[in-house]
Amino acid sequence: MQRAIVVGAGIAGIATSIRLRAKNYNVTVLESNAYPGGKLHATENQGFRFDLGPSLFTMPHFVDELFELHGQNPRDYFNYKKKEVICNYFWEDGTRFSATDGPNSFAQEASRIFGESKERIEKYLGKSKRKYDLTAPLFLEKSLHKRDTYLNKDCLKAILGIGQLDIGKTLDETNKANFKSEKLIQLFNRFATYNGSSPYETPGIMSMIPHLEMHYGTYFPKGGMHRITKSLYLLAQRIGVEFRFSESAEEIMVERGTAIGVRTKKGKYASDIVISNMDIYPTYKKLLPTQEQPVRTLKQERSSSALIFYWGISKKFEQLDLHNIFFSEDYKNEFEHIFQRKSLHPDPTIYVNITSKEEPNDAPEGCENWFVMVNAPGNFGQDWDSLKSQSRKNIVQKLSRCLNTDLEQHIVSEFTLDPVQIENNTSSYRGALYGAASNSRFSAFLRHPNFSSKINNLYFCGGSVHPGGGIPLCLLSAKIVSELIPNNDQ
Ligand SMILES: Cc1cc2nc3c(=O)[nH]c(=O)nc-3n(C[C@H](O)[C@H](O)[C@H](O)COP(=O)(O)OP(=O)(O)OC[C@H]3O[C@@H](n4cnc5c(N)ncnc54)[C@H](O)[C@@H]3O)c2cc1C
Repeated sequence: MQRAIVVGAGIAGIATSIRLRAKNYNVTVLESNAYPGGKLHATENQGFRFDLGPSLFTMPHFVDELFELHGQNPRDYFNYKKKEVICNYFWEDGTRFSATDGPNSFAQEASRIFGESKERIEKYLGKSKRKYDLTAPLFLEKSLHKRDTYLNKDCLKAILGIGQLDIGKTLDETNKANFKSEKLIQLFNRFATYNGSSPYETPGIMSMIPHLEMHYGTYFPKGGMHRITKSLYLLAQRIGVEFRFSESAEEIMVERGTAIGVRTKKGKYASDIVISNMDIYPTYKKLLPTQEQPVRTLKQERSSSALIFYWGISKKFEQLDLHNIFFSEDYKNEFEHIFQRKSLHPDPTIYVNITSKEEPNDAPEGCENWFVMVNAPGNFGQDWDSLKSQSRKNIVQKLSRCLNTDLEQHIVSEFTLDPVQIENNTSSYRGALYGAASNSRFSAFLRHPNFSSKINNLYFCGGSVHPGGGIPLCLLSAKIVSELIPNNDQ
């Protein structure tokens, strides 16, 4: 049986290992950390459980299909529940909007709160769907770097529909062309952050993202986000994938233009195929330093990072749900701080995720587990201690104002995660959450392909390569890689 080595047990690395087992490869996964999941990990602190990374779960069918591929019932491994309330939005002037599942109910309530006509909002969501339908089969589900991708009807449809994609405008300009309400524009601008970009730079085609949330829905995995990692890891073990934890790849061995294995401190592992789930930047800089470097791709602007406070809170807040957003009053300036000044705005947009709303055992009786995140610049060597302490003050003050409480007195436990730690924990260049930013209309084409055009038998999966970051796209990268790799019939 031919052997495949996967470098990294992030969600994309695990998914790739599961797909390659289905193709009859003998698969070994090398992972630097002592645990699987990469960014999709969790921890406990003083009686509170926290998911450390992703908190929003969409398109669960991409997870389910990994179990189905091996004839297993996904429900025997993990369960999830569709959320009726997608997100609660708060503004400082007291405006509050609860985004509910489904375009119809969303449009009805948004019309009431923001004073835009329901028809206009529905029309916008209809365009969002059309953009997704036109581009997803081409830009998300296939390699952008293979000729076959362009020789079919999906490509023709996308070319014919190019005028509807708003590629020549920014997301903010697109939203302003559709609405008058500044708050609704801000709400739809926020979807740029789903791939770590700025709405004032990313193209208007990103207005397809609300369609994913509203049409496919948002979900909460029973037991928390970490259940996704745990259940896929269990499946991978059961089907015979070998995991070697606390063992970093130090070199991808290449001989006469072909990848032949991986070297770690413990030894050399020969293999027929190598797949790197490590961020593409360090993959080239550390594992392939003597090979030709894809300079333009490696120079691509990185997505935003994040600063997260994990707070145990000694009170229950009935006005909050699983996902809550407290908007900045100066959104444009906030992104200017993140992407141009590489700093944090004094009035940040704050995301509060509370899994104990769904899983009461995630916090002690009468308490809640708050994951409090602000978008942050990548790590460029800033003074993070001072940025963090200033930001903490601003966040506590803003949440106290918006929730009409003295929040500080309710914080009973605390730890943080910053861009430096994200970079250290997962080797993500500059601590980017989603690999490269989509701040230009060419981003999709600059992202690294899922294979090497210079080195045979070398492939790439994960958030820093095509089609991009976030759980669904990482899972699609694993699917594209496995489709590029031939079946192992030996
Ligand atoms: C705070 C935060 C919030 C987020 N929120 C969301 C969200 O709500 N929804 C969403 O969909 N996505 C979200 N994301 C993004 C999402 O987590 C990532 O896109 C996704 O988890 C990336 O998976 P991956 O497999 O590409 O890589 P990673 O999770 O980065 O895993 C890469 C793995 O490779 C290992 N590795 C690196 N180098 C080596 C080496 N040399 N040898 C061996 N192993 C190595 C690392 O240790 C790591 O385990 C968030 C991310 C963060 C950090």
